[in-house]
Amino acid sequence: MTFTFDHSWKRDLPGLFLDQRPEPAPAPRLMVLNAPLARDLGLDPDQLGDHGATWFSGAGLPPGAAPIVLAYSGHQFGGFSPVLGDGRAHLLGEFLAPDGQRYDLQLKGSGRTPFSRRGDGKAALGPMLREYLISEAMAALNVPTTRSLAVATTGERIFRDQGPVPGAVVARIAASHIRVGSFEYLAARQDRPLLAKLLDYTIARHDPDLAPGDALGLFDRVARRQARLIAQWMGLGFVHGVMNTDNMALSGETIDYGPCAFMEAYAPGTVFSSIDRNGRYAYANQPQILGWNLARLAEALLGFFDADPERAVDLANDRLGWIAVQYEEEWLAVMQRKLGLLGAEAGDLALAQGFLAAMEGQGADWTLSFRRLAQAVDTDALPLLGLFADPAALLAWLPLWRARLEPGAQIRLLTANPAVIPRNHQVEAALEAATSGDMAPFTALLAAIQAPFTEAEAFMLPAPTGFGAYVTFCGT
Ligand code: AMP
Ligand code: MG
Repeated sequence: MTFTFDHSWKRDLPGLFLDQRPEPAPAPRLMVLNAPLARDLGLDPDQLGDHGATWFSGAGLPPGAAPIVLAYSGHQFGGFSPVLGDGRAHLLGEFLAPDGQRYDLQLKGSGRTPFSRRGDGKAALGPMLREYLISEAMAALNVPTTRSLAVATTGERIFRDQGPVPGAVVARIAASHIRVGSFEYLAARQDRPLLAKLLDYTIARHDPDLAPGDALGLFDRVARRQARLIAQWMGLGFVHGVMNTDNMALSGETIDYGPCAFMEAYAPGTVFSSIDRNGRYAYANQPQILGWNLARLAEALLGFFDADPERAVDLANDRLGWIAVQYEEEWLAVMQRKLGLLGAEAGDLALAQGFLAAMEGQGADWTLSFRRLAQAVDTDALPLLGLFADPAALLAWLPLWRARLEPGAQIRLLTANPAVIPRNHQVEAALEAATSGDMAPFTALLAAIQAPFTEAEAFMLPAPTGFGAYVTFCGT
């Protein structure tokens, strides 16, 4: 089986896309194919392997594909860009997986479109492999995410700051590409008929139990999904890096792996992206940005909340007031799991905050600190203590935590807290090797991050001090 495409976006949302073919790739080559994902999606990995170089580089289209580029707006770092859209991505179509779920197949890095502005429409091999790696890590960590089906090189050299690099395309699978920015695009144009269509399209695709036109119902679902998603990111020390409204999906999946990275030593202000100079999207700001982005969605949907504008604003404000509360609930649930706690008790929030306070400023690695709690359940706190420059606060906290634990805590801790995340220095080394033609480090790292709860010492250590502060780049 290969793809049996359907094209509901084209059918239902005229005005929200342009027909546009990928640019030809002169000498395509399949670099990595996600065979387990293909099988889950009801696709035959062998057949995909045979055609992958052509289909996933944009050199040639799989049968039935009808490529389009989507229009959307976005608030980027707080400022509104009315026309963004797919500047280097092509939606080839949708297909139904054996689970009945509809998925988009999109190519990213597949050439210029009318939305490219000054960009070249291309992507470099390193960043496309990065999206593959980090999205696979997120999936293995049970975080909702778009997936990567394949990465193919195009045979072209493209120009980036570091000089000429291999051009590449990632084939992305998403529950949909409906973004907050998709709604903003139509609201900015005051296109109420098409906005109504997009609302119903989104409901049919993600919340089919809601009645058509139920904008409040949809908003509530999106808010809950997003609150849960950001809480999961926070639990993993994940910094998305570019939480613009065009990068927030109504499906609740993590989307657009640009400058994202995992925090090592716990520091709430952690920022990796070179362009995020004011730290708008710093680790600890992500929950606030969640509320900010959802406010933009509420604005776009306002006309559908109630026919009376004043009542519509009241309804929106009500809901926006709840977002922080919902987020706190989700975050606490994440922390209870990470601390190995059963059920919920009144002191759990303070306990979670106490652990974070003990870590802060101590150079304690986020991932390892949680992982090593498992050994500290009984008495062997040494591996944990060793992560802290000054463990005084931790030593005061441990007895409080132990007093709250119930039998089975150790196993709960080991299944809640990963041993392996994509470590920045290893990601960089793997991508650098791949860019010079050696895929072996990438393959090894990928295997480790796909089994994140299995201890694999070679992939568990934080970056050596010589690695320095990690800086990531957007749109690369
Ligand atoms: P991002 O914030 O990375 O998701 O991208 C924001 C916007 O920039 C989107 O409209 C992208 O399609 C566009 N974009 C990013 N990189 C390129 C590129 N190399 N060429 C054309 N458009 C791009
Ligand atoms: Mg984007």
